Amino acid sequence: MRILGPVLSRRLGLVLLIQQVPPGTCTLSCLHCETAALPDTVPEPVDCGYEPADLAEVVARRIHHAERSGCRIDALAIRPEGECTLDASLPETLRRLRGLERRVALFTNGTLLDRPQIRLAVAQADWVCLRVEATRQETWLALGRPHGSLHLSRMIQGTLAFSKEFPGTLVTETTLVQDINDDAEQVAELARLLRHLRPVRAYLSFPRPEACGSRALPPSPETVVAAFLALRDSVEGVRLLLPADAGPDPSLGPGQSRLMDLLGRRPYTESVLRQALAPTGIGWDLVERLVEAGSVARATFQGQTYLFRWPSSAQGGGSALTSAHA
Ligand code: SF4
Repeated sequence: MRILGPVLSRRLGLVLLIQQVPPGTCTLSCLHCETAALPDTVPEPVDCGYEPADLAEVVARRIHHAERSGCRIDALAIRPEGECTLDASLPETLRRLRGLERRVALFTNGTLLDRPQIRLAVAQADWVCLRVEATRQETWLALGRPHGSLHLSRMIQGTLAFSKEFPGTLVTETTLVQDINDDAEQVAELARLLRHLRPVRAYLSFPRPEACGSRALPPSPETVVAAFLALRDSVEGVRLLLPADAGPDPSLGPGQSRLMDLLGRRPYTESVLRQALAPTGIGWDLVERLVEAGSVARATFQGQTYLFRWPSSAQGGGSALTSAHA
């Protein structure tokens, strides 16, 4: 059991990260996983070797300690390097964390949500991030490499049931992997599934080759734009989920952080970006310099030019994108 932080999360604010499941304990073995070594997949909840009361006590102490130093903890995020619903103590752990009067967040791959008791446990969280990456059996087998006892159709039914029952905030994260789940037909199927799940935010993320090697590559910038637009036609609140950039380059002058923040959320057409920048005092020359420096991609899709933050190493079909994923 590990409690990390406080760390600043783009989605949750200042959080304590709770990793109560041993690293690599997962129902899947995703191609894009960043966990150092994934052992064989596990299909059933296991004893993770801790007491929920002890965990809650440690978390309470960490909250107190952080707040004595002037840091208000916004959320407690259960995000192990594995699948949190494999923790047999999850229901009791969530019950105790809720007593600490902080927002409780949980990240799950959704594989066990076909089980009513797991849905009930997960629904104790206030905020849930659900992975949604495959609508086809062959893609699920190639990308998620699930335990042999799991079924994609049951998992999808479970996630749909959860989205109807869950009273809290549901967001989704979809990692697009080149030549695995990034073609137009599969993206359209993912968009239909997301429409039924009705997340308040649907994040699109991409593999980090430096973390997962050549087994999972990011799509090209043109494919990112096409996927973003296809999802946006079906779901509100689609966002890119890219890693924090390296920070402002002093030689590029002021306005860079603001511009990169804007371009890190979604692709903008050139005309919309020009309009958005007009009242800010950020000149178009900065955009051009960032494109030249390789921090911003310019991609053409259906006759329109789009710009968004995208590491230079990934441009042109890419093999070395730095992305946010755990
Ligand atoms: S990416 Fe998440 S769901 Fe996939 S194997 Fe790694 S820990 Fe499990």
